[in-house]
Amino acid sequence: MRLILLGPPGAGKGTQCKRIVAKYGMAHLSSGDILRAERAAGTELGIKAQGYMDSGGLVPDDVIIDMMTGAIKKAAGGYVLDGFPRTVVQGEELDKALVAAGESIEGIVNLVVDDKIIAGRLTGRRSCPRCGAVYHVANLKPKVEGICDKDGEKLMQREDDKPEVVANRLKTYHEQTAAVVGYYESTGKAIINIDAGQSVDDVTVSVFSELEALCSQVE
Ligand code: ADP
Ligand code: AMP
Repeated sequence: MRLILLGPPGAGKGTQCKRIVAKYGMAHLSSGDILRAERAAGTELGIKAQGYMDSGGLVPDDVIIDMMTGAIKKAAGGYVLDGFPRTVVQGEELDKALVAAGESIEGIVNLVVDDKIIAGRLTGRRSCPRCGAVYHVANLKPKVEGICDKDGEKLMQREDDKPEVVANRLKTYHEQTAAVVGYYESTGKAIINIDAGQSVDDVTVSVFSELEALCSQVE
């Protein structure tokens, strides 16, 4: 299955994608995770991206499009895209790449949540630098505060989850990314809107129920 998960930063895309791939077995292609891995490895791409990421802006379209179309080509067993496309240009270029490969996206899930909720989700997010597991200081606590349940590593706060950057990321979302939903609607694609203001488990129930319906249509 080939899916796109849309939604503002902090909507819960990464959290739900991990659950989707655990159930359906496709690849999780998170543009943010790929960029952070490139930065950690000190690659040219990572170095180019860091200023944009740290300020809460977007990495230039050409860089992201090459990176993500490359990752998609390698994901033979299907994928769920997380954090991409983030501009209408990225959406258009993704569509061109899919047409060239004779493929199409089977489902677009849009996690809808209010800005007021998002700020608290982002500033409370903690991640494991070793395995990438994501927690929240109040909503999704690890068993021992500050420690990853899976590998015992000390949890970290992302630099761009600090309050001063969060405001800019939300501005960037409204100015450049929200229009991606309209882009897909204009191409006639059905958007599955999910109320992502619910609890993590309730969002998962809603997402899985929509994906089950989608699978029965595709079969
Ligand atoms: P995104 O990938 O969209 O930026 P994440 O999945 O990383 O968002 O979630 C952001 C933060 O909010 C994390 O700390 C996560 O534990 C928490 N979170 C995710 N979904 C929910 C939810 N439905 N209710 C409360 N907190 C949530
Ligand atoms: P995320 O992990 O999705 O919150 O992304 C973290 C940061 O990486 C964003 O704030 C951007 O700076 C950058 N980024 C991730 N995906 C994209 C994208 N599709 N286009 C441009 N920049 C991106």
